[in-house]
Amino acid sequence: MKQKLIQVGLIVVILIALGFVVKQLKPKPYTYERILVDTVANKVFSQTITVGQAMEMPAASPFSEGKNAYPAYKCLKDGTIFAFEEPAVSQDAPPVNPDLMTPKCPVCGSTEVTIPELPEGQKSMDVPGPVQIVKPAVK
Ligand SMILES: [Zn+2]
Repeated sequence: MKQKLIQVGLIVVILIALGFVVKQLKPKPYTYERILVDTVANKVFSQTITVGQAMEMPAASPFSEGKNAYPAYKCLKDGTIFAFEEPAVSQDAPPVNPDLMTPKCPVCGSTEVTIPELPEGQKSMDVPGPVQIVKPAVK
């Protein structure tokens, strides 16, 4: 009788473990936050992006009509916030020269740039405009 109870207990434990494993295996859309800048509304904001989903550039912005949002960068030397139009990368295309992918400050030409940070707890912030759109230097 006692042994049977142990068996039942084991089966329950195994079932719970299996359920847990199945739950873990379920594909969960992986998302990340990207800092974009709306070049019309002069706003930097964070947008949730789903991995694997093609991101159109420019992207739609919640702050203005149409598609005016680009990845945002900030110059480390003079603090200029600018938009960078990333070259379209497709799987069929030949690998893009990394030099072309490097955003350059439109004011001083520095490549020492970072992604601007939003104030803690905020989803957007105003930036002094006009925000310049930097295009990759295609040779
Ligand atoms: Zn600069």
